[in-house]
This record gives sequence, C-alpha cells and structure tokens, in this order.
Amino acid sequence: MEIKNLVSISQQIGTNYQYVQGGGGNTSVKINNYTMAIKASGSLLKNMSLTHGYCLIQYPKIKELLTSTVDEKSFNSKVQKLVYPNSPSNNPSIETSFHAIGEKYVIHSHSIYANILNCTKEGQNIIKNLFPEAMSLPYHDVGFNLALALINKLKQYKTIPNIIFLQNHGLIVTTNSAADTLKLHEYVNTKIKNYFNIENGRPNTQHKYDITQDLLFPDQAIYCCSNIAKITESKAAKETQYAYDIILSIIDKNSLTPNFLLKTAKEKLLSMESEKHRQQVILNDNNQT
Ligand SMILES: [Zn+2]
Repeated sequence: MEIKNLVSISQQIGTNYQYVQGGGGNTSVKINNYTMAIKASGSLLKNMSLTHGYCLIQYPKIKELLTSTVDEKSFNSKVQKLVYPNSPSNNPSIETSFHAIGEKYVIHSHSIYANILNCTKEGQNIIKNLFPEAMSLPYHDVGFNLALALINKLKQYKTIPNIIFLQNHGLIVTTNSAADTLKLHEYVNTKIKNYFNIENGRPNTQHKYDITQDLLFPDQAIYCCSNIAKITESKAAKETQYAYDIILSIIDKNSLTPNFLLKTAKEKLLSMESEKHRQQVILNDNNQT
C-alpha cells in the first residue's frame, strides 16, 4: 500500500515541470519503524514504478549518524550500508537524510513558485506572511550539510513543521498521509501563484540574467553549467533552464531582488561526488537526453 501511494504521488509531482525539472525533487515513505522507501538518486520521479526508481533503506540510524559523523564522505558511506540488499535501487537520493527526519510521507520539490520566494531578498517576509506555520532554512550544500542544519534548526520546534522552505533550493512538505501531503504541496503552490497573480498558460521567460553565471539553485550548476555537452543539451538541462527563466521573469515583473548564490557555489557543487553521480545517470540514460 505504501509503495503504491509513493509511486502515485511521485508520478503526480514528477509529471509537472513546474514542480520538478530533470532528476530533481524526491519523495519518500516510512513503511514501518525500520524501513523507508526513497526515490533513487538521479532517476526521474515520473518514472517510478512498484519495482523501479526507489531505494529501501533502514532509516532510524540516519538521524543518529548525522549528529555523530564529522564529514560528508564518511556519512555517505555509512548511509550506503543501510540500504537493504533486496532494494530495487542501491543509490538512495542525496537528500535521503532530511527525508529520514520527516513524517511518514515527504514530498520535496523544486517548485518554481516556492523558488520565487526562496530566491529573492523579499521572499522571506512574504513566506512569513503567507505561511506563518512554515519553517525557512538558509541555503546549505545539498546532502549532509543541509540535513545537519535542518536538525539544528528543528531544536527550536516541538514538532517538525509540515511546510519547510529551503532557500535557493526548493520546498519540503510532510504529513502522515499521502493524500494530505499532496494536498499540502498543492495548497502552498496555489497560494503563491495567487499572491503573484500567475496565470496558467504560456509563461513569460524574459529576463536579463545569465544561467551559467547567476546561480539561483544547485540543479542549475549540475545540469546547465557542466562542460559536457550531453548534459547541457539534456532534457533535464532544458527543463531547468525553463524553470530558471520563468522564476526570473516573475521576479523582474514584481520588482523583486534576486538572491544569487556565491560564485564559489558552482564549482563546489560540480565537484561533489553525489552530484557527479546525478550527471552520470544522464550520460548513461538516453531517455534523459
Ligand atoms: Zn532538492
């Protein structure tokens, strides 16, 4: 039942390029007190099936490892050992650690609507006004550092907030039911769309920024700033470019101030082993190019 629900929410989120682009975004479900099913790294959410595209992992130890391990490399190798031998994939998403902290169902998207708020200087105040119940986490490198920052910030809360905005990155929603998690994700996005009066249909994509220089979020570096043509010409890169163009045109139209990542973030992201794996998935899979 849980896997069926996971596949259903993954396909619904994954077929909407406004929510995920390329191999970005991920979903998970905690099947019992030991086992979590989480999207496989680099694979497409929309391609998940009952037998493909997810990883079964022993999750309770992940939280403990986050606070007891000092560096990302040893953390990742310890997490790898928690993958069950019969798992459909043995490469859990690089964002597995924050899924382990959430409630039963977790949806993490790279929603263009959430990212209008996440990627502007004014966005934090708008989040506070529209979603007073939500948490907003400053930018951290994807993976170990992000999950550790989340754990530290959660110390200020009695329970995990159901809505978490990740600056320069995306959105996390988490509840105990698949339907409620999907509904909550829709609610957050619709509220932002209404706030900015964003209409359905062909969006404007005009702006003055350069995708290879002005970095808004990590996937932009991974898919659009590589020096491998097969990656920059892939579907993932095209979808990421489209999301970038829409976000910046809405930012411009509403006279908001984009909050770009530091220039050093690009090289750092491109050198991360986990991110190299996501690029490799594209190089190995002709369906993504
Ligand atoms: Zn992400």
